[in-house]
Amino acid sequence: MRRRSLLLTGIAWGIARTALAAPVPVLHRDFVLVLDAGHGGSNHGCSSDHFKVEEKHVTLQLAKAVAAQVRRKVPGIRVMLTRTRDEDVPLSERIAVANEVRADLFVSVHANASPKRDQSGYETFVLDLESSKREVARTARRAQRDRNTPLSTDGDAELMLRELQLRANFKKATRVASAIQQSMRRAFPSRQDRGVRQGAFDVLRGLDMPGVLTEVGFLDHAGEGPWLVEPETIESIATSICDGVMLFYKEHAHLG
Ligand SMILES: [Zn+2]
Repeated sequence: MRRRSLLLTGIAWGIARTALAAPVPVLHRDFVLVLDAGHGGSNHGCSSDHFKVEEKHVTLQLAKAVAAQVRRKVPGIRVMLTRTRDEDVPLSERIAVANEVRADLFVSVHANASPKRDQSGYETFVLDLESSKREVARTARRAQRDRNTPLSTDGDAELMLRELQLRANFKKATRVASAIQQSMRRAFPSRQDRGVRQGAFDVLRGLDMPGVLTEVGFLDHAGEGPWLVEPETIESIATSICDGVMLFYKEHAHLG
């Protein structure tokens, strides 16, 4: 139900846009950005005892700020959020929504915490390419076993295509991740740039488009935590994420 309502919202939005844009012919489909506010509902994410702030609220605020900035700066981008309030949304549903709307880019926003509460800085993850390739091969073998069919040329070709797609998406995601990190570096020169990293995050697994997961700072750090939740900080970080999106849009939106 939840998924359906999200999709319907997107479709309704698309119709409204088209109607408003008439009579200019629409020569290309909209570039679709899916923004994923990490956690939500019973999944609180990390938090800070000192400041009583939960990650799920920070990510929602941030995702909304990014959405507002992207809509303001690039009217050609259609933005969808995987959640717009404090509620449970399973990871599989977030991925399915992005795939069903044929999103061009998926950006998941998170805040961090460390065991000794001594870490700080920002980092952006892309899906680990080798482990995803292994998973694609495993899934293909399982599907073949389930169908009880011998290895076929078709199956091999499909597997190769999927691997090519994974590799292309990995390269694009890395480009977006680097742009976000670079913009953050410019905006916050005194903060620690933890770089672009690879990880096996479930929310990036199974996406048909490039996806990144950005950890914008450590909520449990005595200095960074309280600063991170300031409205001005949220806006500045949103600008950096928006910069990454805009760079990707400029490079990959094929305008008619
Ligand atoms: Zn998180």
